[in-house]
Amino acid sequence: MSEPMVVLESRALAKHYPVSTGFLQPKALARALDGVSFELAAGTTLAVVGESGCGKSTLARQLTMIEAPTSGALLLANADVTHADAALKKRLRQQVQMVFQNPFASLNPRKRIVHALEEPLAINTDLSRAARGERARAMLARVGLRPEHDARYPHMFSGGQRQRIAIARALMLQPKIVVLDEPVSALDVSIQAQVLNLLMDLQDETQVAYVFISHNLAVVELIADEVLVMYLGKVVEQARKAALFATPRHPYTRALLASTPRIAAGARRQRQVPSGEPPSPLNPPSGCAFHQRCPFAVARCRIEVPVLEDLGGGQRVACHRVHEIG
Ligand code: SF4
Repeated sequence: MSEPMVVLESRALAKHYPVSTGFLQPKALARALDGVSFELAAGTTLAVVGESGCGKSTLARQLTMIEAPTSGALLLANADVTHADAALKKRLRQQVQMVFQNPFASLNPRKRIVHALEEPLAINTDLSRAARGERARAMLARVGLRPEHDARYPHMFSGGQRQRIAIARALMLQPKIVVLDEPVSALDVSIQAQVLNLLMDLQDETQVAYVFISHNLAVVELIADEVLVMYLGKVVEQARKAALFATPRHPYTRALLASTPRIAAGARRQRQVPSGEPPSPLNPPSGCAFHQRCPFAVARCRIEVPVLEDLGGGQRVACHRVHEIG
């Protein structure tokens, strides 16, 4: 069987923000994203996990071209976004859409649903109004809503239905990639599974690829094919989902997993959240950024930055002691 086509590639992507530290003080640099590399294949889901401030949302803004990276490269279907001219960028932008956490905030309350769905087509295609309306109603049906409700306003739908509408809107231009930023976090647990199932069905139908940003590993275990674990702007572990959940190798991944109630396994492990707060990206610790919270830290960890090491089977881990701690 041939390998699925790579639709997105991130090469050492970095985003550093100058931050004011006080009146007449020199600006400091916050390394929100610090050299992140991965590939995303058509029809697959890459989950990006980590605590708040780890760089997940900064990564989303780079992938959706809301911001330009400080360095590194972003390739969409082999085209280099980072050096594309305005016309090419406009075309590439259509291929990456985004769904936000809060479906209440992401839809204009004064716009009928049909118009919210039509808008991307009105901006980017020459389709007639009638044809756009037709597509909007067909998309409503695809996401499990009634096409005849197209003239309703967002407030007339429940939270789960609104997130379905946001997903429908993201798919109107048939993108190759959808970046989903905590897409089910604001929903009741009973509705979360329905929206996740919808996303998986739509992926089977269209081969769209997802970048699924989440702090919730239980949800990630249901939907991901591959997982990136981020800490302070860097990838500390990358693995296929089965390997990551069965044999997490980085101490930070282990701590995250140990603190997650497991839906799929039906088991609840002992709570063991990584102790302490994540450090500030303005003043990152020397050596391994996790050393202040890591139970396995030794002197070397405080001095030397660990690099991602390929352990085979697609699992990569950045930890000096990965072979000792088993
Ligand atoms: Fe812990 Fe050291 Fe590994 Fe960092 S490099 S995760 S501090 S053992």
